[in-house]
Amino acid sequence: MQFIPLSVPHLAGNEWTYVKECLDGGWVSSAGPFVTRFERELAAYVGAAHAVACVNGTAALHVALRLAGVEENDEVLVPTLTFIASVNAICYQGARPVFMDCDEYYNLDVDKVARFLNERTDFSGGYTVNRTTGRRIKAIVPVHVFGNAARLEPLVRLCRERNIRIIEDATESLGTRYNADYLGGAHTGTVGDFGCFSFNGNKIITTGGGGMLVTNDAEAAERARYLTTQAKDDEVRYVHGDIGYNYRLTNVQAALGVAQLETLPAFLRTKRKNWEAYRAAVAEIEGLRIAPGPNYADNNYWMYALQIDAARYGKDREQLMEHLRRAGIQSRPVWHLNHLQKPFVGEQHFEIEKAFELAEITLNIPCSTNLTDAEVARVVDALRQR
Ligand SMILES: *Cc1c(COP(=O)(O)O)cnc(C)c1O
Repeated sequence: MQFIPLSVPHLAGNEWTYVKECLDGGWVSSAGPFVTRFERELAAYVGAAHAVACVNGTAALHVALRLAGVEENDEVLVPTLTFIASVNAICYQGARPVFMDCDEYYNLDVDKVARFLNERTDFSGGYTVNRTTGRRIKAIVPVHVFGNAARLEPLVRLCRERNIRIIEDATESLGTRYNADYLGGAHTGTVGDFGCFSFNGNKIITTGGGGMLVTNDAEAAERARYLTTQAKDDEVRYVHGDIGYNYRLTNVQAALGVAQLETLPAFLRTKRKNWEAYRAAVAEIEGLRIAPGPNYADNNYWMYALQIDAARYGKDREQLMEHLRRAGIQSRPVWHLNHLQKPFVGEQHFEIEKAFELAEITLNIPCSTNLTDAEVARVVDALRQR
């Protein structure tokens, strides 16, 4: 019996050809033509003016937060339901996370954010100040969870009024665009001040490890490029004008990225086809459903969230995960909520409710772009034979 993993890389395009070019030419490190080519092509794909390649998505988030002016003892609003990297990046700046709840699509609950800002903060001296802590709220990190587009329209206006920068964690949402009549059909990651993408092994396209920071602000992009390459003022004489980072993507990784970006349209079609196949088949099983995405966007269907009504299905999430494991199928619950994670237990959180509910009932099932029809059928069979 073949094991079916949750999400694995799919390297079926020009990866060998482009990586061979790097090896043949000796351009394996951060200098080389593929890095700038990957930046240019990704920026064009998402419709951003500038893109800066980084070692991973977490690094892109870190640099974006720094460029947004987030400093020690500032606060940043972030959903509790996200991968811990979104929160860690805030802490790298010495800032403090304030945890928010999510909506039915696993994304930041924008109405609750608005209520938090109205009821719990003041706008004074040009900044939004948290009444409870007295600290400035400088930024917010909406996350497009599982590729579902977050409801950013009301947030953009609110944050502009409150001098709060928006850093989109779009690490999971490459290929997700709003509908033409919502935010002008923008690609996720291009609505806020900064957008961050990840090309980790489990993402829709991969460079092994990698990330990208996108922005329409030319000056910020230049500063990002400077900070990610050790802030060199004179690279011959090793003169540095700031504390930078060694965050630049290598040419070999970028070569993979260029090849993967070429296959993204095909990946998106496969993700959607398999999502629809799962959705139709699972609809026939009492107590289970595949979570829908919001109708104001065309989502990339990166991850397939199975929702379990344990009473009707007869198994809860843990029992189903074990049942699938025995059938040779990998599945994963959503992340342990961040406001409960050990490093963040003392941090502020606001009316977390929906996140508990979704975490309890959700199990992600195999979604790789090389998943075959027969494998989808095997997963569905296993779900049926409870
Ligand atoms: C993958 C991911 C990241 C981090 O990206 P890396 O490239 O792994 O550093 C951040 N946030 C979310 C929500 C992610 O899924």
